[in-house]
Amino acid sequence: MTPQEAHHDQQSITAPSGHEHAWCVESSHPTSTGRVLYVHCSRCGVRRVDLQEHTLVPPVALSRELPGSLLLAELAAGADSIHGA
Ligand SMILES: [Zn+2]
Repeated sequence: MTPQEAHHDQQSITAPSGHEHAWCVESSHPTSTGRVLYVHCSRCGVRRVDLQEHTLVPPVALSRELPGSLLLAELAAGADSIHGA
């Protein structure tokens, strides 16, 4: 049984299965709920946003794994809906 990568409707996300993402933190900033980490995989370039609620717990993914441009678009859309509420 080989898990198929979920297809995004327009962009085909290059997510070579079989490697464990090597997440590198590009930047981070503290929020009221914890530290938001902007990470990317140094091996395949996929980006993700994580939230680390405490320095002693591992971060959890806030976003899906996306190419940088898509991730920014998704974040922008999310921020817009928050402000629009
Ligand atoms: Zn990777």
